[in-house]
Amino acid sequence: MIVLEKIDILSMSLAELESVMVECGEKKFRAKQIFQWLHVKRVFDFDKMTDISAQLRLQLNGKFCIKKLNIQKRLASSIDNTVKYLYRLPDGNFVETVLMKYNYGYSICVSTQVGCKMGCRFCASAIAGFVRNLEPSEILMQIYETEKNSDVKVSGVVLMGIGEPLDNYENVLKFLRLLSDSNGNNFSLRHVSLSTCGIVPKIYALAQLKLGLTLAVSLHCADDKGRSEIMPVNKVYNISELLEACRFYIKNTGRRVTFEYAVIENVNSSDKDADRLAVLLKGINCHVNLIPVNKVRERNYHTARHGVADFAKRLCSRGINATVRRTLGSDIEAACGQLRRDADKQNKDGGADF
Ligand code: SAH
Repeated sequence: MIVLEKIDILSMSLAELESVMVECGEKKFRAKQIFQWLHVKRVFDFDKMTDISAQLRLQLNGKFCIKKLNIQKRLASSIDNTVKYLYRLPDGNFVETVLMKYNYGYSICVSTQVGCKMGCRFCASAIAGFVRNLEPSEILMQIYETEKNSDVKVSGVVLMGIGEPLDNYENVLKFLRLLSDSNGNNFSLRHVSLSTCGIVPKIYALAQLKLGLTLAVSLHCADDKGRSEIMPVNKVYNISELLEACRFYIKNTGRRVTFEYAVIENVNSSDKDADRLAVLLKGINCHVNLIPVNKVRERNYHTARHGVADFAKRLCSRGINATVRRTLGSDIEAACGQLRRDADKQNKDGGADF
């Protein structure tokens, strides 16, 4: 017997859905109805789509699947309103999503891969290793499930969770198109930030698309030797190639780039490091986001108490626009990748559930 795999309908664009409907002998407008049930009304059960005939609903159930995420763990910070979710994917893998409250509203940080290949030394996601790319629907459903569970509407989306978004380029693009589709969720990409460790060719590709999103680049060090030690990607695309791509992005899109810089004691936090960074970024339309490094159990990296503020002051005095990122959810291990790793370990050690 041949078992045909059902199609993941939440990863489909409206145009794709329209052609499948026509192939099935249905009217094209049916696709828009279904698309709106999924992306506007957020109904994830074909049988509850009341303006679709029983016969078509039967067909939909046979042909498509709606991949839901299950909340494996939900941690709410008692310090601020940050909530961290560990989601279980349909195949048993885990990803993390963080909901953060700011003065202007809610922002959500989503994962784009199960694990990561990039191997940044300070990052917990790297330690847990890479498993697979997320499907567009799996990125989108992190938003839909979180909004439903926390009863909020997010006004900002950041692709800064587990994974390297530009290493899952096609699916991330499809996710962005679904998120912003005017027949669906209609979310403005101006309120989306995509963070990359610096996959240069993909930065050029993204720049050509002029999507309006903010590009955030994890720089973390201003010299090639030091950066290669903490970020292996630098051995493939060095700082000057990366900055050239950023200049192109700015010129082509008219958008300012954000550089992320985790200030790590004895690694990149000296006055000399700040001065080098200021020289490097001079003349680039950018903003530097300084981050106190999150503790990762296996690593001994830390940020000195006054390290970040001093570093920021020095950059600002040299004409570089720099701010210190507010630390949110410090009591719930909001650092990426730690929950997923623990959950995987528990599974392997005997499957204890949370
Ligand atoms: N792969 C992408 C996005 C995921 S990481 C990237 O590299 O940009 C999101 C941000 O968190 C990146 O800037 C990353 O360098 C940073 N980060 C990772 N581990 C960290 C830690 N332990 N402390 C502080 N920032 C960290």
